[in-house]
Amino acid sequence: MLEFKVLTLFPEMVRAVLATSILGRAERQGQVRYTVTDIRDFAVDKHGTVDDTPYGGGAGMVLMAPCVVEAVEAVRGRADAPVLLTSPQGERLDEALTLELLGAAEAAGEIVVVCGHYKGVDERVRELIAPREVSIGDYVLSGGELPALVIVDAMVRRIAGVLHDGASAASDSFTVERGGGLDCPWYTKPPVYRDLEVPEVLMTGHHARIEQWRREQAQARTRERRPDLLPGSGGDAQPRR
Ligand code: SAH
Repeated sequence: MLEFKVLTLFPEMVRAVLATSILGRAERQGQVRYTVTDIRDFAVDKHGTVDDTPYGGGAGMVLMAPCVVEAVEAVRGRADAPVLLTSPQGERLDEALTLELLGAAEAAGEIVVVCGHYKGVDERVRELIAPREVSIGDYVLSGGELPALVIVDAMVRRIAGVLHDGASAASDSFTVERGGGLDCPWYTKPPVYRDLEVPEVLMTGHHARIEQWRREQAQARTRERRPDLLPGSGGDAQPRR
């Protein structure tokens, strides 16, 4: 069973999301375990201090190195377990990185994810822990909780057996299984809504034709919205803004 160990200043926020929907079900089914640790438990004094003003001056507070380093050392079960530090300056998360992180986590049986806050984390954490820094995109959030949850969610849904229908994850956008492109459009009941009909081919029950239609739709979408994902584009073509 793969264990996700999240270090945060806001454990309730993280626990609430991890208990919900597919993430929560994965834990209840025994496929994963989430351990959420409050960085404040490793505060440097009895007042629970975890941050201070930056040396050299400037606005904002910096999360202190001792509490983060000691929290990581306390929760990490194995010295070779991957440790991630959420950071806008890290490697940008995508499908390939998600699978790579999942592979590393599965090899160690666990992964530690550190949520920064305020101005960020004292730089010495990077030197002492050498975490892998992961960003969820080129914008800055107030804390690492949402990025950590994004990373955990992206990984958990790719664990074999977590989604009832493994084929469902494999047909989603960006997956290697679908060649890295976008997913096709999906429809469900009712068959007509405000004069809009479901494409006829989906009502035929003709599996081969449905599959072909979905493939064509997915390719058309990828061409239109994300030509950079097409095989051979070398990632040069620009995504549609
Ligand atoms: N001063 C930093 C930003 C700190 S934001 C800088 O400009 O680079 C505070 C914390 O939120 C970070 O330590 C990190 O844990 C988290 N965070 C914010 N944006 C993020 C992003 N895009 N991806 C991952 N983590 C992010």
